[in-house]
Amino acid sequence: MLFDPPKCMNCGREIEGDEQVYAKLRYPKRKGFTEIKVYLRNEASFLCEDCFEKRA
Ligand SMILES: [Zn+2]
Repeated sequence: MLFDPPKCMNCGREIEGDEQVYAKLRYPKRKGFTEIKVYLRNEASFLCEDCFEKRA
């Protein structure tokens, strides 16, 4: 199954591989992160480093 690449919720820029990002997400009810990528894409909002630093 294909997913859209994650994007920064502030500027909309695609998050690149190996990039440092900040994620806001709900902690899962179930123990363990067996499907961490799926979980992040379903539940997380990302903020790229540039936007994070501008906000800080
Ligand atoms: Zn951004």
